[in-house]
Amino acid sequence: MSRYIGPVCRMCRRETAASKTGEKIKLFLKGDRCLTKKCAVERRGTAPGQKTQGKSRQKTSEFGRQLREKQKMRRYYGVIERQFENYFREAARVPGQTGKTFLQLLERRLDNVVYRLNLATSRAQARQLVTHRHFRINGRTVNVPSYIVRPGDTITIGDRSMKSNVFQSNLEVARNRRAPEWLEFNDQDSSAKVLQLPSREQIDTPVEEQLIVEYYSR
Ligand code: SF4
Repeated sequence: MSRYIGPVCRMCRRETAASKTGEKIKLFLKGDRCLTKKCAVERRGTAPGQKTQGKSRQKTSEFGRQLREKQKMRRYYGVIERQFENYFREAARVPGQTGKTFLQLLERRLDNVVYRLNLATSRAQARQLVTHRHFRINGRTVNVPSYIVRPGDTITIGDRSMKSNVFQSNLEVARNRRAPEWLEFNDQDSSAKVLQLPSREQIDTPVEEQLIVEYYSR
């Protein structure tokens, strides 16, 4: 299955409309716009598409809940279906809590780490910056967004990349926002270090990973 390239705000509206509690689900796919009143979920929380407009929420089956949670998390990280399932299979092979390991694997993707370090305005931009060879891990250029970082890894930005307009503005943001505790950003030389594996508490992804474990364990 290919990557979705349509209007991304539809996905947030879809998840919000499916939310049982009526909570606004934001997937943060459009950078800083997501933090403003222009956010589509803030303006209207209805499901996309004319047919669903104005309809009351229908009762969702257990399978429906599991499916929605899976879709939400997949869209949040911007991962295609097959790759997402592969992460689950890999997590299931590791002893311990599968849901937590699964979430950790997604969180340790290089594109997500770049986004968490505030070196990109969205995961989509982070993915593009990685594929354009702007980052080095332990001194070696890595252009694979799905690269899984490990504790002790050092992430640096190429010398020429540092001078580009996009990095000038993103670095400004990175210096003023805090990275999660499992990562360390050094604003002197704009490098970052992976201190440890992220704990569940350090991952603010609003998903119930247990529902996804149940979805794949059917
Ligand atoms: Fe989702 Fe961001 Fe669009 Fe809001 S602006 S609906 S959070 S992608």
